[in-house]
Amino acid sequence: MRLIGSNIRKQNTDAKAKRVMRNIIRYSTEEEPRNEYPKRIVSPPKPSRCCNDENRLMVGTMREVEGFKFCYKICNVCGHAVKFYYPAVDSTSDAVKEYRQWKRYMVQ
Ligand SMILES: [Zn+2]
Repeated sequence: MRLIGSNIRKQNTDAKAKRVMRNIIRYSTEEEPRNEYPKRIVSPPKPSRCCNDENRLMVGTMREVEGFKFCYKICNVCGHAVKFYYPAVDSTSDAVKEYRQWKRYMVQ
């Protein structure tokens, strides 16, 4: 029961996040990979062997929407782009932490 409940909550959060955050990455095999951040990023649909942490470079600045911190990362070899979410615990803002705790408390 507990598991089902937490899944539903997660889906709601994801749907909400999607409304707020427009994904600017466009996966295409027909177009050349290119970085037009913050307008859009054209990326190959699949990552290659070169797409490791070393080659993936952060583009633009880190953004935060409703406590979710994320940025875009592009592989500097093949141009594969990903939306990278920072772990929730990696928050530097005490206000956000407090808000999350309060929200968690309210949900239970
Ligand atoms: Zn790559």
